[in-house]
Amino acid sequence: MAGSDGNRARLITRFAPSPTGPLHLGHAYSAMLAHDMAMAAGGTFLLRIEDIDQTRARPQWEAQILDDLHWLGLTWPTPVMRQSDRGPAYDAALDALWQRGLLYPCTCNRRDILTAASAPQEGAPMGPDGVIYPGTCSGKPRSGPRPTDSALRLDTSLALQGNDAHGLPDDVPTTIGDVVLARRDMGTSYHLSVVVDDAAQGVTHVLRGEDLSDATPIHILLQRLLGLVTPTYRHHRLIRDEAGKRLAKRDDARAIAIYRADGASPQDIRAMVGLA
Ligand code: GLU
Ligand code: ZN
Repeated sequence: MAGSDGNRARLITRFAPSPTGPLHLGHAYSAMLAHDMAMAAGGTFLLRIEDIDQTRARPQWEAQILDDLHWLGLTWPTPVMRQSDRGPAYDAALDALWQRGLLYPCTCNRRDILTAASAPQEGAPMGPDGVIYPGTCSGKPRSGPRPTDSALRLDTSLALQGNDAHGLPDDVPTTIGDVVLARRDMGTSYHLSVVVDDAAQGVTHVLRGEDLSDATPIHILLQRLLGLVTPTYRHHRLIRDEAGKRLAKRDDARAIAIYRADGASPQDIRAMVGLA
């Protein structure tokens, strides 16, 4: 019966690394938080490989990431979902949005966008994906078969019309703009893929770094448009280095593999990120 304990959705969290570099302290923190949350609730922790960027993803990074996560004591059901296998699901979502006239093709390059977006003396307004797109291509035809030879952008203002906008900040059109949902080189995008996959995997709680909190309104809007359940989002603090700079993948000195080679234990790693 609805609402009874037997039907209560089990808590499902995930860690979704892109195998484009080593697992560093910040990633480990995110993964351990999501894992601990699921274990504490008797739920499930999932791993998903976010390898849509095939120009940057490397099997050896993936192997190292999985090995580091196992070493940290994390476990997850297999086989793991891999975004490079998910093209048909992304195509279906893009088709649905295209058929409703919510997407338009964009052929601008970076320089076109900068030139159109910024007055000479002022910086261009920034959104989660960089400069807010000035809408140059929004008049391009939206009929016929969905184009696959150019990027596709979401017409965010149009997407917000009607009930879909309920509960989203009013300033979404100006703070996120018309984001790219399908990149020409990938046929999809981080935003589209993550939303489609979190829903397909029944993820109930998304724990991720606060660097992604600006992307969350985009994800909620996409869930409304695609009729998907919105999970609970929590954004955790970022692990910074001594200079207060956010750790990036190129900061290989903070790679878990380096700490391991130096003799650190999983407990030491937990202590380093304040999870002891
Ligand atoms: N794959 C993304 C990354 O490694 C994380 C996506 C997410 O947690 O939403 O930054
Ligand atoms: Zn354009």
